Amino acid sequence: LKCSWQDFMLTCLQVAVRLRPLWNKEIEKDEFEIVRILDQKVVILMDPADILNEQNVLGKNRSKEKQYAFDFAFDKDAIQTEVFSKTTRFLCDGVLNGYNATVFAYGATGAGKTYTMLGTEDKPGIMFQTLKELFTKIKDYQIDRNYNIRVSFLEIYNEQIRDLIMVSSEVLDLREDPVKGVQVAGLSEIEVDTPEEILDLLIFGNRNRQVEATGANETSSRSHAVLQIICEHKDRDAGIEAEIRIGKLSLIDLAGSERASKTNNRGIRMIEGANINRSLLALGNCINMLHENNSKNQQNYIPFRDSKLTRLLKDSLGGNCRTVMIANISPSNACYEDTHNTLKYANRAK
Ligand code: ADP
Ligand code: MG
Repeated sequence: LKCSWQDFMLTCLQVAVRLRPLWNKEIEKDEFEIVRILDQKVVILMDPADILNEQNVLGKNRSKEKQYAFDFAFDKDAIQTEVFSKTTRFLCDGVLNGYNATVFAYGATGAGKTYTMLGTEDKPGIMFQTLKELFTKIKDYQIDRNYNIRVSFLEIYNEQIRDLIMVSSEVLDLREDPVKGVQVAGLSEIEVDTPEEILDLLIFGNRNRQVEATGANETSSRSHAVLQIICEHKDRDAGIEAEIRIGKLSLIDLAGSERASKTNNRGIRMIEGANINRSLLALGNCINMLHENNSKNQQNYIPFRDSKLTRLLKDSLGGNCRTVMIANISPSNACYEDTHNTLKYANRAK
């Protein structure tokens, strides 16, 4: 590595924003767009009241706009493969070489998190594209290595972990193994031979989230879905003595941020209030602390133990792990508060 350890750490958190299109349903209700993207980096947010005063023209009064810059800002027409290429593809080599990484979709309910991470059968999202990319890359690596790729898919709801593939009502426990790192006891791991076989499984798993089971947004928005792709390899020539190396990629469709997005002035640390999702809160605190540590060269304690999600990600955030945050936003005037909060949160995470 040519750059210093700090330079390396600073590039270890990448923040992107993705704007979704306005739905027909929203247009029918006379909702209008209050967000614009410039140069694939800058997000411009208008206060709906200002737009109404200026007769509904976005961008007419520049002085009233709020501007935020990110590593990437995806406009409403950005396709799934583009989002994947610019946010996640670059992590695949690291994971195949034994490093851990995390990608998470943040944002209010309805902002496009599940579309970004899981997508649809026609337009598969980051989870599927990542598996496809890993399998393409493995072909080169396989000349002198043997690989074993497995996936697990779990949900954290109400601070309880459940398997989304082998469905049961059983609540699973987290353990820390000195060799294997963080483990979820009893969680199923599915060996993958082709990425295609996994897409249906993920769509099936997503239907098992508390969300879809109750059909109520109230519960759906509080569940985190975590796909972990475990890439194990050893050198072909080393025989039975070969050291096994494991890289783990965690792809996370977070709970809706609408209740947790109140931020303070000093960082992305969130203010706790009634009903705020504990894991979402703890994730914000850990990322904030990791960021503070490497920007100020400090060694503050990282509060991984505060929630199930952060305990699960203890070996996948910070250190030499890479983290990508995709903040999803709606263009609608009706979502102004949520969008503003998400942009502030993402801006402070940088
Ligand atoms: P969330 O998971 O954040 O609650 P969803 O991903 O379920 O939100 O998105 C809500 C709706 O908007 C879905 O019907 C989804 O298909 C649609 N949608 C979200 N993002 C996009 C996008 N970038 N392009 C097209 N449709 C989108
Ligand atoms: Mg969702």
